[in-house]
Amino acid sequence: MNYLIVGGGIAGITAARRLRALAPGSRVTLVEAEPRPYYLRPGLIAVLAGEKSLEDISPYPPSWYEEQGIEFRPGNPAVELDPAGQRLGLASGETLAYDRLLLATGAEAFRPPIPGADLAGVFTLRSAADVERIRTRAEEANAALVIGGGWLGLEAARALRSHGLSVTVLERSPWLLPPPARSSRGGGLGKSARKPGDRRTGRERVSGPDGVLGGGTGASWGGRRA
Ligand SMILES: Cc1cc2nc3c(=O)[nH]c(=O)nc-3n(C[C@H](O)[C@H](O)[C@H](O)COP(=O)(O)OP(=O)(O)OC[C@H]3O[C@@H](n4cnc5c(N)ncnc54)[C@H](O)[C@@H]3O)c2cc1C
Repeated sequence: MNYLIVGGGIAGITAARRLRALAPGSRVTLVEAEPRPYYLRPGLIAVLAGEKSLEDISPYPPSWYEEQGIEFRPGNPAVELDPAGQRLGLASGETLAYDRLLLATGAEAFRPPIPGADLAGVFTLRSAADVERIRTRAEEANAALVIGGGWLGLEAARALRSHGLSVTVLERSPWLLPPPARSSRGGGLGKSARKPGDRRTGRERVSGPDGVLGGGTGASWGGRRA
């Protein structure tokens, strides 16, 4: 059996590993758009903060795929699918045949439909390339605005603070972190961003000892270094 997997994230590589174990005689090919092996996306925040390198959060070197018997094709996005002919076209122009195909292409970061959201200097945070772009910009910037006061937004804000930037967090809810995160994991950043002494009503500015500022719906916020 000739298995073809599109997407080398955790879903794709887990499927590839399982297929190798369940059907040892099969052929398993893994096509990935990014030019690098799998990395742990949650670790990107530490890379953004300069605490870890991309290698630190990449558990499998290219040789691992070979050892596992997985034919790995990085840096070559799938661009065309012919289900009737059971063929997949790649950006390189190559066409791959398959018996079974798995699309494990994950998700993309949501860019809110705000005028100007596509301008230079506005980033989303999803991939290693995003982190590289943000870090490059952070080196020459003084201030950053993070849209979204959920866990990821606050972690990103902390990481940007470590570059010495003044950081403002905008959150449309009157609180930082969604309720489950506040109750189960809110002892960390969320709590520190709502330290005693800060105004806690959603329409006021809130700040923590790490200098991250946040605010609630409808307010206007000004950033300042703590
Ligand atoms: C900064 C950050 C922190 C996170 N922290 C957590 C956390 O703490 N806990 C948690 O549970 N989750 C966390 N997540 C979410 C978690 O990373 C995702 O749920 C997970 O990555 C989903 O895995 P996936 O394999 O389904 O998709 P993805 O990781 O998105 O992988 C899909 C892959 O498909 C590739 N691809 C897409 N289109 C094509 C194409 N046409 N051709 C070839 N390849 C293609 C992409 O390049 C990508 O590598 C975090 C995400 C981010 C960005």
